[in-house]
Amino acid sequence: MERAYVDIHSHLNLEHFAHDLPEVVMRMRAQQVCTIVVGVDAATSQKAVLLAENYPEIYACVGIHPVDDLHAVFDPDWLSVLAAHERVVAIGECGLDYYRTDDPNEKKRQSNIFSAQIEFAATHSLPLMLHGRPTRGTMDAYEDMLAILEDMSRRYSTVRGNAHFFVGSIPIARRFLALNFTLSFPGVITFAREYDEVVQYVPVDMLHAETDAPYATPEPYRGTRNEPVYVTEIVAKIAQIKGHDVETVRAVLRENARRVFGF
Ligand SMILES: [Zn+2]
Repeated sequence: MERAYVDIHSHLNLEHFAHDLPEVVMRMRAQQVCTIVVGVDAATSQKAVLLAENYPEIYACVGIHPVDDLHAVFDPDWLSVLAAHERVVAIGECGLDYYRTDDPNEKKRQSNIFSAQIEFAATHSLPLMLHGRPTRGTMDAYEDMLAILEDMSRRYSTVRGNAHFFVGSIPIARRFLALNFTLSFPGVITFAREYDEVVQYVPVDMLHAETDAPYATPEPYRGTRNEPVYVTEIVAKIAQIKGHDVETVRAVLRENARRVFGF
């Protein structure tokens, strides 16, 4: 199967797609788009694996989101079973999300689950799909994530992955790149100009495009449900920001996804 485009982060496992998923996947097939469907807990991770078994366009990422369930705990039992599946290409989405909290106990809960997943991914030789969301006007969650990742990287040479929906500064980007982590950008870059500088800064071979569907719909589809085929708009925007031609960027991003996620 030809795969011209890879949307490295979507949530086709959510109810937003329950009524028409086969049509969504048919549109992907027509445009040669494949996607990584990302879990946020045991149930959505299981669903991601199920979709990956049913559709060749779909791969799965399994793990525990930092704030989707504020009572979530790390459970290696279900994660081990799912991670062993041949269609699972990453662990996550995991990380730190301080957007709605400044409670030290909550931050500690998040960092415990995050550290456990880093160790899990490293020992299973799988890349991480990172979710980082700082308090408004700061880089706090990224700084704490990087401190944990830099420490874990000294202990495990296999720590690697991608920072999804990157909203960090250039200095934060530089630290992720130094750890050999790629950065992915969503449809927001098609209508908000504040990401242009960091998109320009990151080498094209360390970038991915993602839809985060059903959220963050790019231009010209804003106001409607997002879906993986719209990744073509995001790739085109990355090419425009970088001043390269679209076909060159598409081919490099395709290769990046192959290198990082192994398909
Ligand atoms: Zn997500």
